[in-house]
Amino acid sequence: MTYCVDMILPFDYQTPKTLKEACRLLGEAKGKAKVIAGGTDLVIRLRNEEEKPDLLVDVTCLEELKGIEESDGTLSIGATVTHSEISDSSIVKRYGSVLAKAASQIGSPQIRNLGTIGGNIINASPAADTLPALMVLNAVGRVVSSESEREVPVRQLLESPYKSALKPDELLVRIQFKKLSQDTCCSFHRLARREAMAIARMSLALLFRMRDGNISDFRFSPGAVLPVPDRLEEVETFLEGRSPEEDLLRAAACKVSEAIVKRSGIRPSTSYKAPVIEALFLRAMREAMQQCQSNK
Ligand SMILES: Cc1cc2nc3c(=O)[nH]c(=O)nc-3n(C[C@H](O)[C@H](O)[C@H](O)COP(=O)(O)OP(=O)(O)OC[C@H]3O[C@@H](n4cnc5c(N)ncnc54)[C@H](O)[C@@H]3O)c2cc1C
Repeated sequence: MTYCVDMILPFDYQTPKTLKEACRLLGEAKGKAKVIAGGTDLVIRLRNEEEKPDLLVDVTCLEELKGIEESDGTLSIGATVTHSEISDSSIVKRYGSVLAKAASQIGSPQIRNLGTIGGNIINASPAADTLPALMVLNAVGRVVSSESEREVPVRQLLESPYKSALKPDELLVRIQFKKLSQDTCCSFHRLARREAMAIARMSLALLFRMRDGNISDFRFSPGAVLPVPDRLEEVETFLEGRSPEEDLLRAAACKVSEAIVKRSGIRPSTSYKAPVIEALFLRAMREAMQQCQSNK
């Protein structure tokens, strides 16, 4: 069937019922098809003619891309699971709470009910809210096509701003990560122009455990301040194995802004963003440390 929605160029629309059929459609289209899930990013790109596919392959009926599962110490989330499902999930809140926190702050209830985790990753926005959380969870994506199947760390699914590393015939099927132990403390914070419906100006996710009074397995990823979301290993190494005294945290906050400037360069927004990300980092660390106290 051919659709021609107001102001959008015409395209075919298929709703495959099996993963095999979806892969076949993408393979046969030879790069002229786009996957659609919630459509909250893609429809805007179609309207702006940034994408001009001949075919949209709707993946929302595929069983393999649905549901949140827990097995053998791993949490597995289907690519079409929505942000609302993630933020409401008791399993994600228990074993990956940093992701539940991030998902709960996306857009508005309507966007969270439609937008999916797979779409958020593959859209590859530098400001995507689930990405810092997935980075600190060491999340891995399962990617399939008619020809192959591979497991790819989420960081490697991102090539450049708004460009994923998926081949045109590939589908992101699931996202997996190791369940966090119950003594892990984490925090996600975001800052936007308004309370709702505004893309983050900056965000961050972090997690760690306390071992004999020292920070252990510290992981940190800022969002919306790097061209491609990433972990800041220099900050992680700086804090690892050290006691979280106020002076040390302040020094770590300076390292955060230094590392961001080193990677992104000095921009017109740097004089605003640098002190704000430092303050956001301190706020997130204090919140996570309070969580550690109450876990005792
Ligand atoms: C008003 C508004 C507010 C928003 N607020 C936020 C916000 O606060 N934070 C935030 O992070 N985002 C926000 N977004 C962006 C958007 O809602 C999210 O990125 C959402 O998660 C995208 O998911 P989707 O299912 O709608 O993706 P779609 O639009 O369906 O797809 C996005 C991209 O991913 C590809 N894709 C989707 N699923 C797969 C798959 N399984 N395999 C391969 N490729 C796939 C599509 O081809 C497309 O390129 C907002 C958007 C709007 C319109």
